[in-house]
Amino acid sequence: MQLPHPRALALVLTALLAACAPPADPDPTRIDTIILVSLDTTRADRIGGAFGNTRGLTPNLDAFAAGAVSFTNAWAVANLTSMSHGAVFTSRYPSEVGRPGGDFHLDGRAPTLAGILGVYGWQTAAFTSGGHLSRQFGLDRDFGWFQHTPFQGSMWHTVPAALTWQDSTRKPGPAFLFVHGYDAHTPYMAPAPFGRAYTDRAYAGTAGPDALATRLGSELIFGPHLFHAEGMLGFLVKRNRPRIWDAAARAAVEEEAAAVAKRRPGEVVSFTDADVAYVREVYDGAIAYQDAMFGELVEGLERRGVLAHAAIVVFGDHGESLGEHGRFGHGEWLGSEELHVPLLVRIPGGSGRAVAAPVSLLDVLPTVIELADATLPAQARGQSLLPWLQGATGPEHPTRFAEGNLGQQTVLDAAGQLLVEGIRPESTWYSDIIGNADLAGPAFRGEGAAADVSSRAAYRTALLAWHDTMDRPSFAEPASKEAVEEMKKNGYFTP
Ligand SMILES: [Zn+2]
Repeated sequence: MQLPHPRALALVLTALLAACAPPADPDPTRIDTIILVSLDTTRADRIGGAFGNTRGLTPNLDAFAAGAVSFTNAWAVANLTSMSHGAVFTSRYPSEVGRPGGDFHLDGRAPTLAGILGVYGWQTAAFTSGGHLSRQFGLDRDFGWFQHTPFQGSMWHTVPAALTWQDSTRKPGPAFLFVHGYDAHTPYMAPAPFGRAYTDRAYAGTAGPDALATRLGSELIFGPHLFHAEGMLGFLVKRNRPRIWDAAARAAVEEEAAAVAKRRPGEVVSFTDADVAYVREVYDGAIAYQDAMFGELVEGLERRGVLAHAAIVVFGDHGESLGEHGRFGHGEWLGSEELHVPLLVRIPGGSGRAVAAPVSLLDVLPTVIELADATLPAQARGQSLLPWLQGATGPEHPTRFAEGNLGQQTVLDAAGQLLVEGIRPESTWYSDIIGNADLAGPAFRGEGAAADVSSRAAYRTALLAWHDTMDRPSFAEPASKEAVEEMKKNGYFTP
């Protein structure tokens, strides 16, 4: 028997394979699903790949990044969940859409991402882990479907809820989903094997598992006001507001902090280097667990055939202080630990790429709006990152600004960062007081180039110019006292 010529065999095989393959997608770049994934309290430096972490904490995000654009120099504009999401949902600074602080409530007038997409016929659904991301803080606004856990939950709760919605509630047509989890938030209680996967088993210090296992323990260790006199300062500033820092004012507050510490023995603890290392390792375990949940989401979408036409935006709403500058947690320090966050964007047909240009979470809304072919509101502060996603050079923010839980503000550029505290931004005389304060005094902290007092004036000028552009309405609707009390029960400290 004569065997067929190998080339003829190859042709037959190719024809057979073509017959079996699904029909070619007529429009592989079409987007009918946009998913915004918020990884609460996630620092950029814990992510692998272009973000630089080498501990292997995030295999699922790293795999996702192979087909996404990793923005390695993205910053949040606030260091508190409610304020940061208020900014992401509106592309406005937090104090333009609510009053900074623990009772931040998203103002009812600013157009939101969900609201705009809804106008364009997109179904909108949010699956949040509660806490600040709830109705009480106005962050449910404009979502057609809003589902949150009754406590500070995990993506273990929200990912299945989102996939169930996809299966049973979604109607034909485009859809926008928001999925959120507190997995990397205190008290970093990730289940085994993640929780202690990165810790030193021989560790037996103050921050050990017994302390972490109780709410009081986590407050004791992570409540920045209890941990360190530096953290205590923020609390007292809030109580005594508004107060401009001068040496005498600062000394008085430090004295008060010391007195409080004396009155409450055992509540202000001192950490050794080993204690701080342990907390960081437990945080790493929480990041790894969160990554596993993110993997569940991506796999679930793929299994349902949603992934092929989905654009996915993944971001950290803010970072976390892990002992740097004597602080833990977030909300009181506007340094890179609490503001430098991961941002990854994947679009159908896109390819993996790292972008180191300075961008902002304010850019999320304009990007999604352009992907959905909708119209950007004129008040939006950010810019669409689409050119970066398409392999070109896109917009960037050479100078960025952010606001804190206690009214702090900051300005940063590639060379350095100036931090201002001690007066709330809505104070009538803010510009006069900050403008006249001693640049070498305790109202200011400088990082990088701004550590040099002689270069702080330019940063202050930029900050005040930005401050003057803020359109701050008067907010008739802060979050209710009950909502704030509920947050305190969840471990938030909102004096
Ligand atoms: Zn948060």
